Amino acid sequence: MPMPEQRDIKEIEVILNEVLNTRCPPVGRCRLLSSGFGTAHALNIAENISGHKECLGCGNCVDICPFLSREPARRDKTEQRTSMALESIVGEDCDLCDACILVCPQVDTTIKSYVVNHRMVEVMSRIEGKIGDEAEPDLDLFLEEALDSE
Ligand code: SF4
Ligand code: SF4
Repeated sequence: MPMPEQRDIKEIEVILNEVLNTRCPPVGRCRLLSSGFGTAHALNIAENISGHKECLGCGNCVDICPFLSREPARRDKTEQRTSMALESIVGEDCDLCDACILVCPQVDTTIKSYVVNHRMVEVMSRIEGKIGDEAEPDLDLFLEEALDSE
């Protein structure tokens, strides 16, 4: 079966940046952007982009989240390990670190590369105060994993 085409960043750059700048776990919406939007998306856009990539429930995004590392009791609110669960237990407390995007197998490599190449300086500066905290996941490690998967 042929692999679906990876999303061309030029098509989605504006809406992708809106997603990345919104204080809410971004992985679910980046998953939808990876092959276009499903008909039920909640984004206020006029573009006609069809298709979407579904959540596999692998839990990678829940495991990597630094906010949940700091507040593990939030994980007890649900046994689900999906992007929807991540959104419900993190919500507006999201650090906007983009780690969940980089570890999601359903987010296109083009989007991961865009995040690494265009957003990481801003992300690193934002979370600078947290680097070195032993409770935080290793940022270098998830960057390496994301780049190795390309
Ligand atoms: S991994 Fe980072 S971007 Fe994703 S939900 Fe957690 S804090 Fe937010
Ligand atoms: S990392 Fe796994 S659980 Fe999270 S959104 Fe992607 S497929 Fe779903």
